[in-house]
Amino acid sequence: MRYSKLFGKTIKNAPNDEVSLNSKLLTRAGFIRREVSGVYNYLPLGLRVIEKISNIVREEMHAIGGQELLLSALQNKQSWEKTGRWKSFDVLFKLTSVLDREYPLGPTHEEVIIPLAKQFISSYKDLPFSVYQIQTKFRDEKRAKSGILRGREFLMKDLYSFHADEKDFKKYYETVKKAYKKIFKRLGLIAIETEASGGSFSKVSHEYQVIAAAGEDEIIYCPGGDFSANSEISPVKEGKQCDLGHGALKKVKAIEVGNIFPLGTKFSDAFGLTYKNKEGKDIPVVMGCYGIGISRLMGTIAEVHNDEKGIVWSKEVAPYDVHLVHLGGVEAAASPPSEVIRFADEVYETLKKNGVEVLWDDREESPGTKFADADLIGIPVRLVVSKRNGDKVEFKNRNSEKSELLSLGETAKKLR
Ligand code: ATP
Ligand code: MG
Repeated sequence: MRYSKLFGKTIKNAPNDEVSLNSKLLTRAGFIRREVSGVYNYLPLGLRVIEKISNIVREEMHAIGGQELLLSALQNKQSWEKTGRWKSFDVLFKLTSVLDREYPLGPTHEEVIIPLAKQFISSYKDLPFSVYQIQTKFRDEKRAKSGILRGREFLMKDLYSFHADEKDFKKYYETVKKAYKKIFKRLGLIAIETEASGGSFSKVSHEYQVIAAAGEDEIIYCPGGDFSANSEISPVKEGKQCDLGHGALKKVKAIEVGNIFPLGTKFSDAFGLTYKNKEGKDIPVVMGCYGIGISRLMGTIAEVHNDEKGIVWSKEVAPYDVHLVHLGGVEAAASPPSEVIRFADEVYETLKKNGVEVLWDDREESPGTKFADADLIGIPVRLVVSKRNGDKVEFKNRNSEKSELLSLGETAKKLR
């Protein structure tokens, strides 16, 4: 991609009403733009990151048998009355149509997936299975000051699993835990598996918490890694000595990037979701639900992986693999094109042919401006082509000060 053609550009200062670090950085770097409070547009750079995060999540969901589908965002009011959540779900958007009909705008999808699953489950032979989607959710959050960490419109991955009994459910719950660990590791995040209240469904659920000053949650955890609980529900207090001798428990702010819930038969009971066992008896289906905040993850990565110059994406989620910069300004752009431009173009085309995703800052701007923008955007590798570097490419990682001069062949090889 040529930067000159890219829709969405960097800006020096974020608008005054962007108060969170993630939204300031992502707005300045040209990844997102606010529509209204708690609602963001994702520009091409931002969408590329969202897609990379989503694809990692997809791969790990497929690996544990999750089948992808896409459920409706505009939902059925009757289903929400059946579960009692039309009245009790505090952040539910309720729409009234021009025909005076009322619709819930989906904040979550139990009320959709369970009536749907009921059409396909009759016997024990139909179980177990799990389905998931990556979809826009709507919640009328009271406070939306945390940028894309807490949106009124946001992207979530939600997986729902259906089982014949508690034992089978528990086995799958552990499988999902392992998949979640892989996902967060691949995303370059340390997410602490944390005990939390199960709400009205069960005693405990698990949250995945990333330590960050911007976090709206607080966890009490053991630095040795054997215990973590959300401070809202934990009877255990900060400072208590870890039972396994790892020292005092700490209390820190954290961002909840995922949440997994045993649902028991709560929703199955509400909708009469049962199956016939081998003896022909009707048994309620046991369920679990498992969320990941896709857009919140992008905000979390921006919050924890940055320096004073901007964002520092990891290779796995960066919008492009390399940020190519040529130096020389107007002189380089002269017609016929200078040797610098010709070589930059060759680097660009060769790397693309090798499957490398390249953002080429092809503008006639000063080195200072180009380098500052490269650091702000945060692509993991910067390549510089200039008169001084001749037929060599200067290779530098975003998170390091050191650079090296390589031939184009060596550059392509190193990037593979
Ligand atoms: P929170 O406690 O932060 O309000 P939640 O427990 O209500 O979230 P779930 O319903 O479990 O969230 O949703 C699954 C995941 O979706 C959460 O773990 C979080 O990562 C993400 N998420 C929830 N609400 C929002 C929001 N308003 N904006 C962005 N992401 C969100
Ligand atoms: Mg929560």
